[in-house]
This record gives sequence, structure tokens and C-alpha cells, in this order.
Amino acid sequence: MQKGRISVQTENIFPIIKKFLYSEQEIFLRELISNAVDATSKIKALANRGEAKGELGNLNIEVIPDKENKTLTIRDRGIGMDEEEVNKYLNQVAFSSAQEFLDKYKDELNIIGHFGLGFYSAFMVSDKVDVLTRSYKPDAKAVLWSCTGDTEYSITEGERDERGTDIILHLSEDALDYLDEHKLEDLLEKFCKFLPVPIQLGTRKEKIKDGDEEKETEVAHIINNTHPLWKKAPADLTDEDYVNFYQELYPFSQPPLFWIHLNIDYPFNLTGVLYFPKITNQFEVQKNKIHLYSNQVFVTDDVKEIVPEFLMLLHGIIDSPDIPLNVSRSYLQSDANVRKITGYITKKVAEKLNELFKKDRPDFESKWNDIGTFIKYGLISDEKFAERALEFALLRNTEDNCFTLEEYKEKIKGLQTNKNNRLVCLYTHDKHMHYSLVSQCNDRGYDVLLMDQIIDNHFIQHLEYKAELSFKRVDADTIDQLIEKDEKQESVLSQEEQDQLQSLFKSVSLNQDSQVEIKPLSPNDPPVQIIRPEFMRRMSEMQHMMHMMKGDQNDLFKDHYQLVINSNHATIAQKMIHADEGQKMEMATYLTELALLEQQMLKGPALNDFIKKSLSRV
Ligand code: ADP
Repeated sequence: MQKGRISVQTENIFPIIKKFLYSEQEIFLRELISNAVDATSKIKALANRGEAKGELGNLNIEVIPDKENKTLTIRDRGIGMDEEEVNKYLNQVAFSSAQEFLDKYKDELNIIGHFGLGFYSAFMVSDKVDVLTRSYKPDAKAVLWSCTGDTEYSITEGERDERGTDIILHLSEDALDYLDEHKLEDLLEKFCKFLPVPIQLGTRKEKIKDGDEEKETEVAHIINNTHPLWKKAPADLTDEDYVNFYQELYPFSQPPLFWIHLNIDYPFNLTGVLYFPKITNQFEVQKNKIHLYSNQVFVTDDVKEIVPEFLMLLHGIIDSPDIPLNVSRSYLQSDANVRKITGYITKKVAEKLNELFKKDRPDFESKWNDIGTFIKYGLISDEKFAERALEFALLRNTEDNCFTLEEYKEKIKGLQTNKNNRLVCLYTHDKHMHYSLVSQCNDRGYDVLLMDQIIDNHFIQHLEYKAELSFKRVDADTIDQLIEKDEKQESVLSQEEQDQLQSLFKSVSLNQDSQVEIKPLSPNDPPVQIIRPEFMRRMSEMQHMMHMMKGDQNDLFKDHYQLVINSNHATIAQKMIHADEGQKMEMATYLTELALLEQQMLKGPALNDFIKKSLSRV
């Protein structure tokens, strides 16, 4: 028997491991299984080269909970270790790398969820750890290493006939729930789902056909899929394979719209598959659905620093051993490799979208409702993506026709260029609500876009800034002024008469903030119109958003609107101006209410009064 003391330079590492790492405790399982996978890969490589003799046998890695003895064993049939190796790897290598890791990241222990602690993470859950191992070398003897979570360890001869290693964790009282099969299965599902070596948790019953009879037999309960789809060659895969794999990743989800298989080995190594999900509810776009793997080992589903934000709407897997995992998150973003990877993914996604657009435009258009949000988000937030995406970003009008930006500019330039030589795009956020305004626009030959997604406000601003377009909602001005022209209408009323009208309509109590403007429009335009000037409306919408985000209950949303009085309309220019004061007031109120009604702004008791009054007139 050999006894020894793990050399400790600074402080005792075990209390730190136990206390500080509590939050990420469960990663011990991933660390130990990763070691077992490495040991298994090594024996396979040695056998391939003819350096390990004899049959490899069953290479399953087993996870064995033992409730009676309160132990959890991770068993592999990998290369194993002889006494010298145990000394070197467990007492020196493993210890010093754990020590180094902790020294470096004591203040940043949240990153431990990634990589680094290795074998010593076993002490996060154990009072004592035994390692019973036997090297693949023909004359090797079995070795038992034992350590009780302080710096003392012992090495004795062990009893073991088979090649490989058992890591036996004597679980501490507060970690006994790791013996629960369901919990174990969940954890293994999370970390080991796609490891390249079969991971076995007990057995399960399976029915097999034996001639005409069905027999039930016990078979190994294997947790993982050792050949995940993203590791295969795209040429060998069918659409069905991709859809099935999506179901495997996200059971009960709607089938994805399409996908991109990522595969690159120079200048960095990256594989994976990204799916475009069907967005069922745009208020609840699901982020954090991309899972990051390193050589098929699950690392994290928080990929913020690795994929640009707009790509987080995608689902799927990115697997790269070239993403540094044992560094802090803030460092990741500035890492040259990570930046290259981010750029590559963005480029691939843009290429795929462009390909789909070119290959089958009707299909692309039919998916626009789902992918539009994503593409607009990308256009706004990522310059590199925007460069490419302008080619296939679409605008959809109220008649459900789609145009690229260039096509649309061409379409509207004849009638929708204003006096400053700027193209004005008209839009509505609700074509039913704006039905009459939209048809008035169409009557004039104007086209109206449908901008009804949450992101559209931002998208509009972006296009105004980048594509030199102006946007006006159809209720932003009187129809004839939506596209400002130089022509001026003459007023049939004198300035004095116009001033009178202004104060009259002002006194019709509406909303204190609303403004009244007298305009000499065409006699065919309505006498009173309600408009919401674009700039004012956007400002109040923005304020409203900010209040909502702050959770402010007292946000009194101010709907700014303006009353435009057509001083050339017969009712006003001929009837009203000659009526007596009482009649004037009544007419002004009635016309205003009529305009409000048309804008669907006259509601509640005011609407009832209006109807009553109108009926009494007939
Ligand atoms: P790392 O895996 O990062 O090298 P660890 O602390 O996890 O660090 O392990 C230290 C070393 O111990 C490994 O490099 C390996 O040589 C050895 N080792 C750990 N577990 C096993 C195992 N199950 N079978 C064989 N060797 C192992």
C-alpha cells in the first residue's frame, strides 16, 4: 500500500470545490463521462494501429447507481491506467489542472459550467472517491486509488480482471439524489445525448420477434445517439432525416421550415445544423434553442457570444472544438476564432436564404411571414448580414404581393415621389381598420404596404436611414398630402373667415392636445378629416413602449391627432360660414364626430350620443 499527500502549494482545494461550485454541481457527470469517452477512443485508436491486442469487446460506458451502498459508478472499458499512470494523472495532472483552473477563475466561477475542472469535480458530490482501474497493457495489474476529499490518498492493488476504469463515487449526504434513476436519465440526456460512445443506464425491456412469438428480453438502456445527423455527410441525408432529427431535438415542435448543414474544417473546425423554426407566436419568439457542443459533448445552450443575436431565433446544433470554453464570456467575443465562426455562420445563413429565394420564389414568399421577422431583425442588427439580405428582403403590400426593395422602388417611383424628390412608401399596420384610407390611396394609384409585425417599426426606421425612403402611414396626412406635391389650392374663404373656423373647431372639445388646421383642399375631399402626423405618432408610440417596458401602470397613452378642416368643401364654405352661432357649433361638432367615427375613434357613450342625435335629425 502506498500513501501519499497531494502537494498543495497555496490552499486546500477541496473546500473550494465543494462550496463554490455548488451551482454547477451536476457537471461532474459530464466531466467523468468525457474522461471515459476519451479513454474509450484511445483504446480504439490503439487497436486500429495494432498496439492493443485482443478483442475490444463491449465498449459501452455504464452509469451505475447503487442505492444500498450510496455509490454512483462510472465504468468504462477504455485504456485504463497502471500504477505509474494513476500517480501521474490523478495525483499530478488532474490535480494541478484543477488547482490552476480554480486559481484563475475563483472570481468567475460561473464559467465552470464549461470546461476545466475535470476529474476533480467528482469531489463536488462525494465524500470519498475510489478509482479501480486496469491498464490495457498485457502484464498490467489492477490498481485502486482512494481519496476522501482531503489531500491524503492511498494506492493499493485492486481486484479487477477487465481492462478499463471504474470511478466509484461515495456520494455525500446532500448529493444522494444523484442515485435517482430519473434524475440521472435527465442529466445524461442533457450532457450525453450525442456522445460518440454508447452510454448505458441499466437495462430496459424490449419485445423481439422469435419466429411467430413475441418475446420480451432485457437490453441495455442506451441514452445516446452515437451518430448524430450533423456528423454525417449532407449527401447521405434526406429531408426526412433532417425533420426527424429536429423532432429528436425538440419533441412536440412544429416541423421546421428549412435548415442549413454547417460543415467546415479550415481555418477552424465546425459542424452543425441550424433550423428555421415555424414562428407560431411572434410575441414569444423562442431564443436559446441553439445548443453548443464540443466534439459531441454538450457545453451550453447559452450561445450569446458565439452567434449574432438575430441568429438566436434559429434552432439546432453548433459543434466546434475550436470555441475556447475555459475562458470568460466577455473574452469570448473578442476571440479571433469566435469572430471568424460568427462571420461564417452569418454568411452561410445569408447564402442559404438567397439560394431559396432564387430557386423557388413563390415558396420563399409563402414562408415570408415566418422568416420575415428573422430577416428584418438581421438586417437591422448585423451589417454583414444586411449587405447580403437586401437582395432577398421582401416588402408585402395590402394585396399580398411581394417585392424586393429594388422592385418596389421601381414600382412606386412614378406616382410616389414627393416634391423633395424622395420616394414615399405608404403603409398600414391594419388593413381592415384602414380599409377606406387604403382604397382612397389605391384610387389615386398609390400602393400601400402592410407593416403589421412587431419588428416593422424598427424595420421602417432602418430603411429610411439606409435605403433613402420615407414611410408614411396612410392616416398620417390627408390623402392628397401623403405625397407632398408643390401644387397649392386656392382658398375660397378669406383669412379672417379661416381664423373664425379655426377657433370654432378648437372649441369643440375633443382632446386637449389635438390640433386644428384649416386647409384649402379639393371640394371633393371630406369636410373634416382626422390625421395622425407620422412624426408625432411615432414619438408617442415610442414613449408608450418605454413606459410599458418599465412596467409603468400610469402610462396614459396620448394618441396625437390633428383635425384638418377643408375650407373649400361646400358644407363649410357655403353653409356653415353663413349659419348663426348656435348652428355653427352644432355643425362643427357633428362633422368632427363624423370624422372620428370614420376613424373608428368615436367609442362608448360618445358614440351612443352621436347616434341618438343623428336619429333625432331624421
Ligand atoms: P483532462 O481530462 O482534462 O486531461 P482530468 O482531470 O479530467 O483532465 O483527467 C486527468 C487525466 O486522468 C486524464 O488526462 C487521463 O489521462 C486520466 N484519466 C481520467 N479518467 C480516466 C479514465 N476513465 N480512464 C483512463 N484515464 C483517465
